[in-house]
Amino acid sequence: MKKLTILGSTGSIGTSTLEIVAAHPDRFQVIALTAGSNLELLKQQVEVFRPRLVSVLTADLARQLDRMLSDPKPEIHHGIPGLIAAATAGETDVVVAAIVGAAGLVPTAAAIKAGKDVALANKETLVTAGRIMMDLVRENGVRLYPVDSEHSAVFQSLEGQSGKDVKRIILTASGGPFLNLPLDRLSRVSVADALNHPNWSMGQKITIDSATMMNKGLEVIEARWLFDTPAERIAVNIHPQSIIHSMVEYVDGCVMAQLGVPDMKAPIAYALTYPERIPTGVKPLDLTALSGLTFLAPDYQRFPALKLAYDALAAGESMPAVMNAANEVAVEAFLKGKIGFTGIATSIARTMDAHEPHTLATIEDVLSSDLWAREKSRELIGLS
Ligand code: NAD
Ligand code: MG
Repeated sequence: MKKLTILGSTGSIGTSTLEIVAAHPDRFQVIALTAGSNLELLKQQVEVFRPRLVSVLTADLARQLDRMLSDPKPEIHHGIPGLIAAATAGETDVVVAAIVGAAGLVPTAAAIKAGKDVALANKETLVTAGRIMMDLVRENGVRLYPVDSEHSAVFQSLEGQSGKDVKRIILTASGGPFLNLPLDRLSRVSVADALNHPNWSMGQKITIDSATMMNKGLEVIEARWLFDTPAERIAVNIHPQSIIHSMVEYVDGCVMAQLGVPDMKAPIAYALTYPERIPTGVKPLDLTALSGLTFLAPDYQRFPALKLAYDALAAGESMPAVMNAANEVAVEAFLKGKIGFTGIATSIARTMDAHEPHTLATIEDVLSSDLWAREKSRELIGLS
């Protein structure tokens, strides 16, 4: 029986994880769940999965949840201490890190320090603090399993191979809803257009990141740390059908790929049961029903955010954390109608231009770069 904590249980990854848990009650037990403010959904999850501990964003939300639940109730925590309590719960074997954004950093680090294996969806953790997190993984002798579909595909394509024979990692990207939109219309797309992803159903932030392709940029940085591979050997191919989830090219010219219909339940399950595989309810892949698989190189004029991520990785040190925070601020500003779609990349670039990279030695250093970048980008956008 694998005992789980799910950080961000009410989100897209969190709910897909709980679908897998519900389908395999003989394999998984839920110890702790955390949510932001969706108390109605958290209440339902508590009633079905009976965790020992839950945590929500604020003390006020914790009191509301307490009133909504009937006995026997779980321990109800809140805030960052609550996230840490869930991430380090004594019985937990694996922590599913499925909070969105840099908010996932502190609890994920706490889980690793407590000796928990981590199923990592929260890519921002590796973008902001990749070197520190990978050092923590090594020092604490835990395993970090990728949940992101591309990284799961790379992980699977590396199975049984020797890492020294890898020539390139090739991450695939759908290209999002604006792949074929005339360039001069990009600045005028609506929030609803940007949230209308062609292949994947995901949380709002990552859906906007997919439209700008910042998501792929974040994933290049995530791959750099997960697979200890320099940026020059991580390529991005746009593959609009999202059937090949990523590939590894070897020195002999052979390429290993992982295929499947786009459904996060497959990579989530693999992260939870590796090296075993379990039924996930994911629809079978019928290649004969497809009209073709196509690939193209990304165009940086259309997707400047992808280029910014490679630039941030090249600058190194604190720059990826600054880029990530500026992106979080810009995406939120776009969702609230404060800036246009092309303003997202522009404001990230301006924040990065204003930053002098410096070494990040601790999680606290990362948090202070994150805070600096949030303030700077709010100032540049005119939000403060
Ligand atoms: P989501 O917005 O659907 O869910 C986020 C979860 O985190 C919710 O439970 C929310 O309540 C919680 N949360 C948000 N802000 C919080 C905060 N400040 N403190 C505590 N909890 C907070 O997001 P998602 O789409 O499930 O994505 C989660 C992570 O997984 C992201 O890092 C994303 O990049 C990554 N990811 C998602 C997908 C996907 O298909 N959705 C695929 C690959 C990777
Ligand atoms: Mg992905």
